[in-house]
Amino acid sequence: MIPTLNKVKKGGGFSFNFISKDGKINKKKWIKFVDNVKNFNVSYGGPEGIKINKDFFNYFKEKEQVALLWHEYHHARKKVFTFGRNCEEFRADKYSALKNSIEDCLSYLKIGEKLYDEKIIPYDPKKHPPIKKRIERIEKLRVK
Ligand SMILES: [Zn+2]
Repeated sequence: MIPTLNKVKKGGGFSFNFISKDGKINKKKWIKFVDNVKNFNVSYGGPEGIKINKDFFNYFKEKEQVALLWHEYHHARKKVFTFGRNCEEFRADKYSALKNSIEDCLSYLKIGEKLYDEKIIPYDPKKHPPIKKRIERIEKLRVK
């Protein structure tokens, strides 16, 4: 369960239970809510754990939020800082798709595409591979 924005306090967060669809992963993690951050859009996963900002609540529905958390969980599992490496982004999407849901992963990617297209969220090619390529890769998982 993910709380709504008005239930999450600034500097606070919530506990989220990662349960994979194969049942092999069952792990509770603290999701930190950080407002007005400049170094990431929507969500972050890395050595400092998992963080989200207001955009996470403003633009994504609960299923997509869960899928995004799985993406960040993949980054956060790594002990080294891998954020911004293209292959890591593809891997994090794939991880989210396979451990959680292919459709929900595609859903956050398609919203991301719209947010980039409408310039609501700035696209930084140094941090993420083109969103169309990310969508294509996950769509390929559907037929397997
Ligand atoms: Zn990522």
